[in-house]
Amino acid sequence: MANPARDRYGVGANRESDEAYRYFVSGLGIDSTGRTTITHEPEACMPRGARFIRWRGLLVAVLVSAIVWVVGSGAGHGNAQSLRTAAADGPPAPRAYPTLTLPMTPVGGWQRIPVLMYHRVVAPGKGVIFADGYNVPPNHFAAQMQWLQVHGFHPISQIALFDALAFRTPLPSRPIVLTFDDGYVDAVHSVLPVLVNAQRHWPAAFFVITGRIGEGQFLRWDQIHQLELAGMDIGSHTVHHVALGRASRQVATSELVRSAEVLARGLGHPVYWIAYPYGSVTSAVAHEAADAGYLLAYTTHPGMWLRLSMRTMLPRIDVAQQDSLRRFAALVTVASGANSAAPIRRKIP
Ligand SMILES: [Zn+2]
Repeated sequence: MANPARDRYGVGANRESDEAYRYFVSGLGIDSTGRTTITHEPEACMPRGARFIRWRGLLVAVLVSAIVWVVGSGAGHGNAQSLRTAAADGPPAPRAYPTLTLPMTPVGGWQRIPVLMYHRVVAPGKGVIFADGYNVPPNHFAAQMQWLQVHGFHPISQIALFDALAFRTPLPSRPIVLTFDDGYVDAVHSVLPVLVNAQRHWPAAFFVITGRIGEGQFLRWDQIHQLELAGMDIGSHTVHHVALGRASRQVATSELVRSAEVLARGLGHPVYWIAYPYGSVTSAVAHEAADAGYLLAYTTHPGMWLRLSMRTMLPRIDVAQQDSLRRFAALVTVASGANSAAPIRRKIP
């Protein structure tokens, strides 16, 4: 399975969790083609109360979006237009990003929120290795986002997720988190136009390898600023895409701290999010990540149950290149519990 190209770009390594992933999927009753006996329950079939809760969730989402927009475009940073101009002409005005701290007394419990993990969203072509399973074609990605919208899912920001886990801040109905590892230029070419358009304005998190910024197929700073100003979250994926769980403590600390410093300098605010390259992490590394100031840190372990106490070991659901829309739908439906009236609470080890 070793593939130097995959290792170079840091994708594919979470195949080491393949077995766990298959176990996860089989445990959910989905076969390899995505067939499942559980079907999505249309909104019209929901009881009146559920619909009310759903609309109330939407209302909350709209209000939160409006507040975030007002704060983001005001608060002494000028309007959105001047932010865009600043980004194009030089160092950007920082996006108004709140200072986040952990609660003195954690109030959160388990919450079932699927975090989808993507790498590239790109069509086959020169320089694109299309055999590694980590290149989701743009038309597949667009269809997946359309499916999420039609079925009432609401992608949430990293801050919204943190607040929900730390403070039980209400989330919109069917919350879901979109994450993209490695920081490829696909983020602005293929992902952003699908997430921000006339139909939707959805947040996502992009984890960049700070030592690769501006290289080849990796995002440049102006593109990273463009993503931020469009409402996206930027997080770390270390400096050199190091498997932290196998690195010395000194190297791991350096990778965690230096990448955060580079991003904070470039963005003008602290960065609270990280995805571990290869999903490689130990409990010692997770503690180091917390010490370095990260509030949420993602592995590649499959799962969808999240809570504050595992905030530096969060599971994700891999969306693979070969996934049909049907399989994607089955995965998301089951992982989110969208089909069950009373989700079964269970721990993911
Ligand atoms: Zn990676």
